[in-house]
Amino acid sequence: MIHQDLPPGEKWRQYELHALGFRDFARVRPTAALDPFRLAKFANLVVIEFDQIKGLSAKNREHLLGSASEQWSGGACSRPLPDGRRIVILNPSHGRMRTHATLMEEISHVFLGHQPTKLKIVEEDAQGRTVSRDYRKADEDAAYGTGAAALVPFGALRKFVLEGQTSLQIARHFRVSRELVEYRLKVTRLWSTYKTAHSDSGAS
Ligand SMILES: [Zn+2]
Repeated sequence: MIHQDLPPGEKWRQYELHALGFRDFARVRPTAALDPFRLAKFANLVVIEFDQIKGLSAKNREHLLGSASEQWSGGACSRPLPDGRRIVILNPSHGRMRTHATLMEEISHVFLGHQPTKLKIVEEDAQGRTVSRDYRKADEDAAYGTGAAALVPFGALRKFVLEGQTSLQIARHFRVSRELVEYRLKVTRLWSTYKTAHSDSGAS
């Protein structure tokens, strides 16, 4: 049997296995950064730059990128194009790091075969913010969790933690946000190892 670098917990092992499959498909080395923009075309997704959207008034553009910017990260249009591809629009003001996680989630929905719900679901999250989703809650969790695992795989993450790298260094390596690396450290139960490694240096 081939030894697989998998985190504890059945759900997280499943996410990791799917994520490793995505990385294999993208032919990316085990410790290398995954570029979701390369993977997007294999998922039949067309990423449209925000600036390419015509017909938005300056005022609406200002609203979406200014005061309302935190309320949307991006998403795929539920109706495909005639050739089967689907359009994804990403919020450019969130920066490349956050955009990678958003796009990777959309890719995961496609590769995991999720079917969008017929009605958009709008509800409040635990922090009381209004969130909307296009898939069942379990599918949203799986797409986000699997996408995060594809961007920050467990085996490489553990290796870098044992080498003493900080979450910021690891984030730069994988071209994701530090928050995403810390989320991965927690869900893969590497957090206490990480904390112990950095308890002297004052890094958090
Ligand atoms: Zn989603």
